[in-house]
Amino acid sequence: MPRPIIATVSISALQHNLRIAKSRAQSTGRAAKVWAVVKANAYGHGLERAIRGFGEAEGLALIEPDYALRLRELGWKKPILLLEGFFDAADLELIVTAQLEFAVHSHTQLALLEQVLPTLAIKSPLNVHLKMNSGMNRLGFTPAEYHQAYQRLRALPAVGNIVLMTHFANADDPRNPGLPLTPQYACFEAGIAGLTGERSIANSAADLMHPELHSDWVRPGIMLYGATPGGGSAASFGLRPAMTLSSEIIGIQHLSAGDAVGYGSRFIAEKSMTIGVVACGYADGYPRHAPTGTPVMVNGVRTGTIGRVSMDMLSVDLTDVPNAKIGSKVQLWGDDLSVDEVAEAAGTIGYELLCAVAPRVRMTEK
Ligand code: PLP
Repeated sequence: MPRPIIATVSISALQHNLRIAKSRAQSTGRAAKVWAVVKANAYGHGLERAIRGFGEAEGLALIEPDYALRLRELGWKKPILLLEGFFDAADLELIVTAQLEFAVHSHTQLALLEQVLPTLAIKSPLNVHLKMNSGMNRLGFTPAEYHQAYQRLRALPAVGNIVLMTHFANADDPRNPGLPLTPQYACFEAGIAGLTGERSIANSAADLMHPELHSDWVRPGIMLYGATPGGGSAASFGLRPAMTLSSEIIGIQHLSAGDAVGYGSRFIAEKSMTIGVVACGYADGYPRHAPTGTPVMVNGVRTGTIGRVSMDMLSVDLTDVPNAKIGSKVQLWGDDLSVDEVAEAAGTIGYELLCAVAPRVRMTEK
């Protein structure tokens, strides 16, 4: 019998969240198209499920060239975008055969394109997304370099549409509520002045909170999985959690005052109490640094973790959980407990928890 830990993905929640992403992106009257971001194995939810959940998206975007090929093998026929572009000449061959769109963000990539594209048999023009570093200082050309990079791309006969692209560092910052406070946007606008092409700028946070930043394409990721990029709860935007991570109680301990729990004896009982041991540990992807009191649901009742999370198990307080016994259902996050709450208690973000669910956790869907 497998361990009782299981991650259940709701395809209808993925579909629902995509509809919200689309309606927000189009709320300002723009016909914004959606790249559903499915990098990191669809934020831990699985590519095959993402294809079914995001069938209404105009395209899927990710960073892993091999996973892009997998999407084609799984039958995705619409556009696929490589958000970081290619890493070597072999990727360019893959781009051509699998008909991928790709970002270009560096002079090294431009040089490789100039060198390799003329050697490839290219049947249909390549759509390229030219990335500007508008202030995040991660990837992209500076506004000063941008026009020249654009012209170098334009000079390549194999290149078709050039999409003008940037990525926000602070769109989720509640102190950054509007356009005048978005210097990155102003920087982008100045950098693309005089260039023609569709624009692609909004991630989940911009899609949800900055309608003024919607443009031809939006690129939501985390919101599609029912978690928040920050700046408000996912439920307050009508989003539904796509993944529920659940397990069971596999042990019960009755403690007396002074008894310690787990590695490092980090928790000492102040009075007699009952605790449950849950089949879920950091090797399943649960954050080891989650402190005592991190929320968890047992038998539908909200309680908290106790002591250190170990590799395969964690302990929970059963003081206020009636009828808890071995086999009782535990929800680590999902329908009844948002992943964002658990993440916040653990000092991280929902993104990390969803992406970190380990391969040994069985996945199913509903
Ligand atoms: N666009 C780019 C270029 C990204 O790197 C990401 C994710 O980091 C996204 C869009 C989606 O971001 P989010 O999951 O915050 O919506």
